[in-house]
Amino acid sequence: MFDFSHSQSALRDAVTAAYRRDEAEAVADMLVQAQMSADEKAAAEKLARRLVTQVRAGRSKASGVDALMHEFSLSSEEGVALMCLAEALLRIPDNATRNKLIQDKLSGGNWQSHLNHSPSLFVNAAAWGLLITGKLTAANSGQNLGSALTRVVGKGGEPLIRKGVDYAMRLLGKQFVTGQTIEEALKNGKEREKSGYRFSFDMLGEAAMTQADADRYYQDYVHAIHAIGKDAAGAGVYEGNGISVKLSAIHPRYARAQHERVMAELLPRLKDLFLLAKQYDIGLNIDAEEANRLELSLDLMEALVSDPDLAGFNGIGFVVQAYQKRCPFVIDYLVDLARRNKQKLMIRLVKGAYWDSEVKWAQVDGLEGYPVYTRKVHTDVSYLACARKLLAAQDAVFPQFATHNAYTLAAIYQMGLGKDFEHQCLHGMGETLYDQVVGEQNLGRRCRIYAPVGTHETLLAYLVRRLLENGANSSFVNQIVDENVSIDDLVQCPLDAAAHTQGKMHAALPLPRNLYGQGRLNSLGVDLSNEAVLKQLEAQMNAAAQQSYAAAPLLAAGVDAQTEAAHEIRNPANQSDIVGTAEFIQTASVSEAVAAAKAVESSWAAVTPFE
Ligand code: FAD
Repeated sequence: MFDFSHSQSALRDAVTAAYRRDEAEAVADMLVQAQMSADEKAAAEKLARRLVTQVRAGRSKASGVDALMHEFSLSSEEGVALMCLAEALLRIPDNATRNKLIQDKLSGGNWQSHLNHSPSLFVNAAAWGLLITGKLTAANSGQNLGSALTRVVGKGGEPLIRKGVDYAMRLLGKQFVTGQTIEEALKNGKEREKSGYRFSFDMLGEAAMTQADADRYYQDYVHAIHAIGKDAAGAGVYEGNGISVKLSAIHPRYARAQHERVMAELLPRLKDLFLLAKQYDIGLNIDAEEANRLELSLDLMEALVSDPDLAGFNGIGFVVQAYQKRCPFVIDYLVDLARRNKQKLMIRLVKGAYWDSEVKWAQVDGLEGYPVYTRKVHTDVSYLACARKLLAAQDAVFPQFATHNAYTLAAIYQMGLGKDFEHQCLHGMGETLYDQVVGEQNLGRRCRIYAPVGTHETLLAYLVRRLLENGANSSFVNQIVDENVSIDDLVQCPLDAAAHTQGKMHAALPLPRNLYGQGRLNSLGVDLSNEAVLKQLEAQMNAAAQQSYAAAPLLAAGVDAQTEAAHEIRNPANQSDIVGTAEFIQTASVSEAVAAAKAVESSWAAVTPFE
C-alpha cells in the first residue's frame, strides 16, 4: 500500500485548495477584504507622498541598494553583466576561469557611462570598484580610467580586474552585512538601536547541500542565539533583538518528498533552537522560502506551537508571502493554531522574494496554474488584505510588516492606528524610508531591521536575490530613485489600480498549460507538493497496485513452445512491491519459435502489394 499523503484539518484543506486558484477570483476576494475608507485612502496617500518626497530629497545621500539598483538596473546591459558576474563568481573555484568570465562580462559592458552619473557616492564607488583595483581608483578622470580599463583587459590583465570586482563586492558587503560575526553585528547595531530600531539577525547561508553544511549553519545559529540572548539581557521578544532562520540552510533535504525525514530530523533540532530562544526570551523567526515548501513549514509549525515545552513563549515567528494566492488562508490557519494552543505568534508579512522562479517552475512543470499573482498590483492588494487579517487578530498574532514600498507602509500605518505591531526593513535598503518613521520625533513607530551576518563569501547568494527582486523596473525601490516616475504614480492606491485590471492575469503570462499558444498544450506535470494531488496520486497508485500483470511470450500461430514457470517481477524502487509475473519460453523451444516466425515473414513477403 502506498501511503504518502496525509489527512488535514478543514483550514489546512482550504490552504491547499487555494494553491493555484483562479487569479480573478482571488483578487476579487482580496479587494473586498482590503477595503479602505475614503478618509483612510486620503491619509495614506498624503503620508506616502511625504515619505517619497523626503526619500527623493535625500537621494544624493542615499547609500543604499535603491540607488545602486537604479544605476545598474536589470534593463541595462551592465546590470545583467553584474548579475551574471556575481552569480557566477559564487560558483567558480579557480582563478583562470574567473578571469575568463570577468573578461567576457566586463569588457563588453559600458561601465564608463555609469561613472559620475548617479548622485550617490556609493554607486560611483561601486562603479569604480567594478572597473579597477583600489590602487587605480585614486587615478584621474573617468575617461582615463575607461581607456585604462580597455588597455588592462586588452593586455590580458584579468587578475587586476578580478581584484577590482572583489573590491566592489567588498563595498557591497559593507553595505548589506551588519557584521562578519554576530558579535561584530551586535556592536555595529548599537547606534541604530539608540534611534529606536531593533534587529532580526540572519546568519548568511543558502540552501545546505550536505549534512556538513547544515551542521555548520546550525552551530552558527546556536552560537548567535547565545550572543543575542546575552546582549538582550531579558528585554523580551518585542523590545529586544531576535533572529531569523531559513530552514533549507539547516537541513539538506527540506522538501515535501522527504516529509518523514524532515519531521524526524529537522523538527527536534528546530525545537532545540526555539527552546534556546525561549530561555533568553528572544524572537526566532522562520523565513519564507519557495511555495512548494510552504505546507511542510506549516506541519513544523503545528508541531512546534502545540509542543508543551514551548507553551507560553511568544517568540515563535513565521513569515507569510502576500504574492501567494494561499496567503489569507495561511493566516486563518495560523491564527487558529495560535488560539487552539493559547499562544501568540509573531507573523511577518512580506510580498515574496521568489517571484521569477515560481513562475518559471510552474511553466516547466506544466501545472494547472501559478501559486503567485501575475500582476504586481494584485500582490499589493493581497498584502493590504492580509495586513487587515493580521491586525484583526491581536490576541493571537503580533504582526510585523516588512516592505520598502512607501505606499504600502503608509496604508499599513493608517490601517494599524491604535493596534500593536511593528514595521520591518532590510539592512542597507530601507533606512532612508524608515528613518522618517522610527522614533518619537518622527511617526513614533517601531521598526526591526533584518540584518544579514556573515563573511563576504557568504553574502553573494543573498545579494543576488536582492538584486533580482529589486532589479525589475516595477519594483518600488527602483522607481523611487527614478525621477521619470512621478510621485503621483508612486503613491497610487493599488485598490484603484486593481479595479481596472479586474483581476485579470498579466497578458504576457498565459497559464502554464497554454504556454505554447493555440498550437499545442504544454505537457501536464504532477504537483508533488500539493496534498490533494498527492492523495489522488496515492489512490491511483494503490488501485494500480491491486492489478496484477502477467506477461508471457507471444508466438506465431501453431507453435507449441514450452515455457518456464512464471516468476515474480518486483518494483525496482520497492522490492516488496510485486508488480506481476513473467513467463519466458524454454531455451529448447527458441529455435522452433524462430523458424515459425521466419516462415510467417516469408509468406508476407510473397504478397505483392497493389495487385
Ligand atoms: P515592491 O516594489 O512594492 O514589491 C515588489 C514585490 O512585488 C516583489 O518582491 C514581488 O513579491 C511582487 N511582484 C513583483 N512583480 C510581480 C508580478 N508581476 N506579479 C505579482 N507580484 C509581483 N521574502 C521572502 O520571500 N521571504 C522572507 O522571509 C522575506 N523576509 C523579508 C524580511 C524583510 C524585513 C523584508 C523587508 C523583506 C523580506 N522579504 C522576504 C522580501 C520581500 O518578500 C519582498 O521581496 C521585498 O520586500 C520587496 O517588496 P516591497 O514591498 O518592499 O517592494
